[in-house]
Amino acid sequence: MKRPGSAPRVTVDHDRCELYGICAADAPRLFELGQDGRLHFRKRLLGADDLDQAIAAARVCPAQAVVLRGDLDG
Ligand code: SF4
Repeated sequence: MKRPGSAPRVTVDHDRCELYGICAADAPRLFELGQDGRLHFRKRLLGADDLDQAIAAARVCPAQAVVLRGDLDG
């Protein structure tokens, strides 16, 4: 049985984020680098189809600012 609040989700540590935008390139379903120069979330709660992009974004972020939380095993 899953615990409440264990839904997989993605967050960004904005103290570390340098707005390189690499996460948005590798995970366009999750992130967008806006014309305002800020990083926007397209979604934070991850469905099963989003996990690959979320993991890729966490791997490629040079600032290690992408953080995955919750139950990532589906
Ligand atoms: S790749 Fe990392 S540093 Fe760059 S915008 Fe995404 S979260 Fe920020």
